[in-house]
Amino acid sequence: MKRAYNFNAGPTALPLAVLERAQKELTNFNNTGMSVMELSHRSKDYEDVHNRAKDLLKELMNIPDSYEVLFIQGGASLQFSMVPMNFLQSDKTAYYIETGAWSEKAIKEAKLFGKTNVIASSKEQNHNHIPKDYSLDHTAEDGAYLHITTNNTIFGTQWQDYPNSPIPLFADMSSDIMCKEIDVEKFSLIYAGAQKNLGPSGITVVIIKKDLLEQTPDNIPTMLKYNIHAKNNSLYNTPPTFAIYMLSLVLEWVKEQGGVKAIEETNRKKADFIYDAIDNSNGFYKGHAQEDSRSLMNITFTLRDEEITKKFLAEAKEKGFVGLGGHRSVGGCRASAYNSVPLESCTALASFMDEFRKANS
Ligand code: PMP
Repeated sequence: MKRAYNFNAGPTALPLAVLERAQKELTNFNNTGMSVMELSHRSKDYEDVHNRAKDLLKELMNIPDSYEVLFIQGGASLQFSMVPMNFLQSDKTAYYIETGAWSEKAIKEAKLFGKTNVIASSKEQNHNHIPKDYSLDHTAEDGAYLHITTNNTIFGTQWQDYPNSPIPLFADMSSDIMCKEIDVEKFSLIYAGAQKNLGPSGITVVIIKKDLLEQTPDNIPTMLKYNIHAKNNSLYNTPPTFAIYMLSLVLEWVKEQGGVKAIEETNRKKADFIYDAIDNSNGFYKGHAQEDSRSLMNITFTLRDEEITKKFLAEAKEKGFVGLGGHRSVGGCRASAYNSVPLESCTALASFMDEFRKANS
């Protein structure tokens, strides 16, 4: 059976080689006579998987020893609350830059726990760009942290250069973690749901500076304390063992591809094919994001009206393209070309876009 051209926004494609390896190991993992799902989370076999996933993340993202890597459940959405619960003290302010629906949700949760301040927003222009016109100087007075969403999954914008923040910089990287090389040391805390670039859903990766762990307050639920997860190597309770195993396989695959640098090069080619199809269409396709804010991961575009959009999506579906419908807040189409989406899916989409344009101009 032919694999779909999967452009889902997440969960999304996994590398075929990863799926095949998981299939091969499914009923007898590492000669244990059972699958990873059937192993005790306290067994050596499972612990090796768990620690391998952690070590690979550290290696591939070049994460210094001054950081802890945590695996937490509850999705990136739980991080929206865990972050202010752990770090927004009553005499401080949490600063946010609002660049899309997911940052709006993060802000909404933070407001439940303390003082927040949105210092820049792209909302007025339907989040078609990353704001540049703001000052961070005053945040040093009372700032607990500055929170950004590095890639805006729905709107298709992405931070190109991260802010130089005088206070700890926190980032939701759910939809672009490991899509390009970054300097982890710019950030004090990074979180990302795995289901786009790292593996299946069910696990959230948190990369946190160790010195922040001392700030965890006593009066919050145990499961929501970062220091508890850190002290227990993310094994305080039963972790989603199969999801972490799949994460380890995806990370092995990234390493085999040549690491994040090689993945980034391919991602740039992939996105270029699709953006070129937009830019060379004489306005037939219109990109939602301003050029200097374009995302490598989520490519958003509209067609002239709803009727032609429907036709585009119907014909695309017939040709095996999946997940191209845009989010209702932008309309039109969105192609999510995460790390595991092969180059050939993107060249096929670009060719289809050209053919469709010629047939319908
Ligand atoms: N942040 C971003 C940038 C996202 O794209 C998403 C999911 N699409 C979330 C947060 C929420 O993630 P989860 O479903 O894992 O809670």
